[in-house]
Amino acid sequence: SVPISRRKVAVTPRSEPEATVLEAVSLRSNQEVLFGVGESSLTVAETGSQSLSKAEQRKLDSDHLRDPLLSELSNDEVRFTEDAVQLLKFHGSYQQHHRELRKTDKVRSWQMMLRLRSPGGRIPARLFLALDELSNRLGDGTLRATTRQAFQMHGIPKADLKEVIGTIVRNLGSTLAACGDINRNVMAPPAPFEKGGYPVARRLADEIADLLSPEAAEGAYLDLWVDGDLSYRFKPSRAVRKARKRQSEDGVFSGSSEEPLYGDTYLPRKFKVAVTVPGDNSVDLLTQDIGLVAFTDPSGELRGCNVYVGGGMGRTHNKEETFARTADPLGYVEAADVLDVVQAILALQRDHGDREVRKHARMKYLIHDKGIQWFRETLCATYFKGALKGLRNEPKAKLLDYLGWHRQKAGMWFVGLPLLCGRLNGDLKAGLRQLVETYQLEIRLTANQDLLLCNIGTSQRASIRTQLEAMGFEVPEAPARLARHAIACPALPTCGLAITESERILPDVLDRLDAQLRRLEIEKSLLVRMTGCPNGCARPYMAELGLVGNGVNQYQLWLGGTPNLQRLARPYMEKLPLDDLEKTLEPLLLSWKAAGGRRSFGDHIEKLGDQEVSALLAASA
Ligand code: SF4
Repeated sequence: SVPISRRKVAVTPRSEPEATVLEAVSLRSNQEVLFGVGESSLTVAETGSQSLSKAEQRKLDSDHLRDPLLSELSNDEVRFTEDAVQLLKFHGSYQQHHRELRKTDKVRSWQMMLRLRSPGGRIPARLFLALDELSNRLGDGTLRATTRQAFQMHGIPKADLKEVIGTIVRNLGSTLAACGDINRNVMAPPAPFEKGGYPVARRLADEIADLLSPEAAEGAYLDLWVDGDLSYRFKPSRAVRKARKRQSEDGVFSGSSEEPLYGDTYLPRKFKVAVTVPGDNSVDLLTQDIGLVAFTDPSGELRGCNVYVGGGMGRTHNKEETFARTADPLGYVEAADVLDVVQAILALQRDHGDREVRKHARMKYLIHDKGIQWFRETLCATYFKGALKGLRNEPKAKLLDYLGWHRQKAGMWFVGLPLLCGRLNGDLKAGLRQLVETYQLEIRLTANQDLLLCNIGTSQRASIRTQLEAMGFEVPEAPARLARHAIACPALPTCGLAITESERILPDVLDRLDAQLRRLEIEKSLLVRMTGCPNGCARPYMAELGLVGNGVNQYQLWLGGTPNLQRLARPYMEKLPLDDLEKTLEPLLLSWKAAGGRRSFGDHIEKLGDQEVSALLAASA
């Protein structure tokens, strides 16, 4: 294989992507600045004998994600240029154009969203307190727990970005590689149990985050945000240091001595990894580029991992060649080979992923196009020297949420608090700050956008319970049934790709559905997920009922996922007006009720089959 920076790329011109957004025409210029929309139209830059797409050339020219960000950081403009915006993502930030402010306040409407990197969702007390203060002083006053177990801040002016990121770094946090064409935040079950495989899964997530951390880009990151203070370099474990040395060996080596694993053009697209323990699917394992299930021996030592590859949610309306996909089983690897197989898979995608068409660049398309057998053979022939064995048996997976009180270890507790859509603001945020500050509690975020308060001593439990009750968490283990597992993406007003509402209307949608279930005397619940566009940030294609924005107040209707996130849903309606939600679902819900038994709504849809589901939906028209 030849690293991309030394490869000639054949480019076939393609037409511009069709507008999928009602406001697309008026938004277009902003979207190009915000998200690089149009990169797949392949503006080609010539470099000697090479021809790279604009996105690839930009990475190559950036001196490892430094230029032109460094020079633009100190100018007086209220926004970055497109070249800087694309690099900014690798540093954890998206430039956004607040869609409700831009008509009235052109300056304040340009703002930055900042996402942290927090493997396994771990946020030390000191970092949380810094984030809370920064969000109040330099952001929009809120914090948001994302579906990848990290906090996001919104509303940061460009002029304040350096202070915000610099403060995060000085308080034990990082935003490096939280976005961009690189490995993103590594997920793991957030529960701080000291039993079973949980400690190993958490440690493995930390190690993989360090293993896949960029080398040269870390230098650029520290230069930009903390004036090159190298004392903030990450400090990998011995196992990670040894595995990183092997990044310079044949196969995994990119050809770039400065960035041995990634090479000078990093990855074709984003890359996502999650680790879990057998039977715990709190991390939505099958939606990841790499999903690892860690097996341990009775003493808690890692024995090895089942490895899954090629999951991914993002798609585009009306483009059949883009699709959501669940990961395929790759095989089982022994403990000594786990870090190597992870960096080998990443290197394979680095060399073989599509760098011409960004909408086709995720590893899921490579595996779909070439097949899992080709992937396995190529991996073992060129990148991975260990052995891939047959998968080990796993217990049936559950979507665990850890809400309510749990024993962490002898004399210590944690409590899981439900947060609808992960948004922290107002009295709730202030109350959490007080608890974290008083008791120096660690926070862990879940993939379901909930929050765990950890390291609570037995003697502190009663007073913390009293304070939580005053904040409205009387029975944190029993939130409203639909809200318990429902998630939504931010969408309007900050996301430039949003076609319609998501986070802001989810509570109302859930109330309406709950009222309908009560009226129909259905006592079971169902898994609802909602997004403002098909990009899939809230993983709606795994839900039993997925609503995917496809017009103002109109949603594509996806049905048939499972409560434990094991099967993709399927699309049944292109544009369901939100006003017609109850009317449309009623025949399906009645048929679910009539079937009786314990079958979930998603399994009922699956059993009915496409024809019957479509007939019932048509009956509601
Ligand atoms: Fe924006 Fe939501 Fe679409 Fe993600 S899924 S890009 S947050 S509208």
